[in-house]
Amino acid sequence: MEIKLLEHNKKQNKASFVVKGTTAAYMNTLRKYVLERVPTLAIEDVEFRENSSILYDEVIAHRLGLIPLRTDLKSYSLRETCKCKGEGCARCTVQLTLEGKGPGTVYASDLKSKDSHVKPIHPGTPVVKLLKGQEIELEAKAVLGQGKDHSKWSPGLAYYRHKPIIEVKSQPADPKKLADMYPEKVLEVKNGKITVNEENALKCATYDVFEGIPHLTIKQAEDEFIFTIESWGQLDCDEIMTAAVDIFQQDLEQFAQGLKKA
Ligand SMILES: [Zn+2]
Repeated sequence: MEIKLLEHNKKQNKASFVVKGTTAAYMNTLRKYVLERVPTLAIEDVEFRENSSILYDEVIAHRLGLIPLRTDLKSYSLRETCKCKGEGCARCTVQLTLEGKGPGTVYASDLKSKDSHVKPIHPGTPVVKLLKGQEIELEAKAVLGQGKDHSKWSPGLAYYRHKPIIEVKSQPADPKKLADMYPEKVLEVKNGKITVNEENALKCATYDVFEGIPHLTIKQAEDEFIFTIESWGQLDCDEIMTAAVDIFQQDLEQFAQGLKKA
C-alpha cells in the first residue's frame, strides 16, 4: 500500500491523501473508525442551579452538548475504561460552569472550564439570549465519547472516492476555450494542445463534470482512492487518523486473541 499526502490545510482543518493498492472495503472501514470510534470531549451532564431564560433546561443542555470542545486524547480516557470505573474523575471528566445575567447573550466563550486546554473551538456560538431580569447558572460535565453513541462526539467528516483517470482522446478545435470552461484548472493548454493537470485533477471534487466532453475519457482507478478528512476542530486531522488506526489495530488484536481462545 502506498500513501501520498495530497493536501493538509490546517486553517480549514482538512486533509486528503491518495492511497494506492487497497480496496473500497478498507477505505470504508477507516471512514467508519473515524466517524464512530475516535473519541472526543463533549458535554454530557448538566446540573441547573438557575434558569429563568425562555429556553427549557433540556434545550440548553442539548445546545451545550453540541459545542465542540478542544480535546487532548493523551490526558483523558473513556469513562468505561477509566480507573474510576465510570464514577467520574479528573482523568475522564471535565467540569465546566456557565453563568449569565440578562440583558444579553450567553456565548460558548462564557463557559469556564477546570482544564484550561478544554475550551470551545467556536467561542462565538450563542447558547441563550437573556432579557432583563433573566438569569442562568449551571454546572456541566464533559466526558470522552464516541460517534457511535452520539454524533456530538464525532471528530469530523471522512469520505473517499476512486482516483479519477482523465485522458485526452482527441484535440478540440479551440483548446483554450475548453480549458477556460473549467475553473479548477484540471485542463491546461500546452503547446496549443489540451492536457490534463494530474495534481489539480486529484484535488477537483467534481471531476464527473468532464464526463460529457467528447475529447476526454474518464475512468476510475480500481485500487486507488482519495481519502479526505475534515475535522470539526476537537482534534487535528493527523490526530484523528492516528487514533482511528490505533483503535482499529487494538480491535484486530482483541479479535486475534479471541480466535486463539475459541
Ligand atoms: Zn474516571
